[in-house]
Amino acid sequence: MKFSGCKSSLGAQLSRRETLEPMTSQNLPTPKRGTFVERAAKKPGKLPPRHISDMTLAERKEAVTALGVPGFRADQLSRQWFGRLNDDPTTWTDLNGSARDTIRQELLPDLLEPVRTLSCDNGTTVKQVWRLHDGSLVESVLMRYPNRVTMCVSSQAGCAMNCPFCATGQAGLTRNLSTAEIVEQVLAGARMLARGEVAGGPGRVSNVVLMGMGEPMANYNRVIKALRMLTTEAPEGLGMSARGITVSTVGLVPRMRQLATEGLPFTLAVSLHAPDDELRDELVPINNRFPVAEVLDAAWEYAAKTNRRVSIEYAMIKDINDQRERAEHLGRLLKGNLVHVNLIPLNPTPGSKWTASRPEDEVAFVAALERHGVPVTVRDTRGREIDGACGQLAATTS
Ligand code: SAH
Repeated sequence: MKFSGCKSSLGAQLSRRETLEPMTSQNLPTPKRGTFVERAAKKPGKLPPRHISDMTLAERKEAVTALGVPGFRADQLSRQWFGRLNDDPTTWTDLNGSARDTIRQELLPDLLEPVRTLSCDNGTTVKQVWRLHDGSLVESVLMRYPNRVTMCVSSQAGCAMNCPFCATGQAGLTRNLSTAEIVEQVLAGARMLARGEVAGGPGRVSNVVLMGMGEPMANYNRVIKALRMLTTEAPEGLGMSARGITVSTVGLVPRMRQLATEGLPFTLAVSLHAPDDELRDELVPINNRFPVAEVLDAAWEYAAKTNRRVSIEYAMIKDINDQRERAEHLGRLLKGNLVHVNLIPLNPTPGSKWTASRPEDEVAFVAALERHGVPVTVRDTRGREIDGACGQLAATTS
């Protein structure tokens, strides 16, 4: 998942045009290994004021006590916020008025201001654009399926990874999101579902994928704290299953290895997109620092430690990475491992001339992987019409 498609920022992207030209094996630039430079933040962004969704229950108790409110109020407010999904303190009748006012003022700053809500698929896909306290924009997408609801959330405003086919990276990184800014995207979806505001009637969020804007492993500590909160039982957290949570990464190897030690069985997704360093250096520039072999080693370590199948994400780009030889190469690299390949037909992004693979090439790619015994599915891409699909999230207001 991911989204993009920012017509209004097209002008700003024209200067990057050459890098968005289609690459063929003939005109690929000479690989410059070891030269990856992250797109720097324009100016270091300021994190928002603290919020109860930044805190463990013990930290909430400390925070309320420091404000002169008895510690047990932290349990009550957590039960309202996470258990009942009630975000209106004026209705928390179990708390007295002055405790409610203090908590509202000091620990419940407005973090996500809704800017736009777009929906498609008869209301079962809902993209929300949020304005943060410093004016940064981020997006989240809710996708309802017959048997599950998946929230795709952002971990950073913008992204420093600079993958040329992804809209999010084109403007660089603005800042990391706070733990609460990540948690609150999920809670916003959970509240809409609980109130029956999403087509299909009342429901709950069953899955979370960190596949919105940003590179979650580059904001590691805040992301992990957010995921712990989502998976801790109510009233401390949202009580979700860690198995329903997917962390997607470009392949920041040290952080992948660290994730394997957290003791929680999240699903790890690796955005591979090419089996060879020559092409991957271009498609996922951080490959210059962490090449394919190291990324896959870390992925297999994750699978061994957690017993979870690793997802390999592969955007199918016509004549760029969808050739028969690359399918064979990928099959050889992956076979015999605890793995599943998700092929994602390339979603259009502004200024990019690349397009999705031809159907026959996609079929041949799938068949080649299957011959190697590698499980593979082609992802049903949701939200293209609302620029809510993989790689389309650029958070614009128009
Ligand atoms: N930075 C993390 C999280 C973002 S996930 C990561 O890269 O894994 C977004 C997923 O959508 C990634 O797999 C990304 O490579 C893929 N993607 C980006 N642009 C896309 C596009 N235009 N079409 C299809 N998939 C795209």
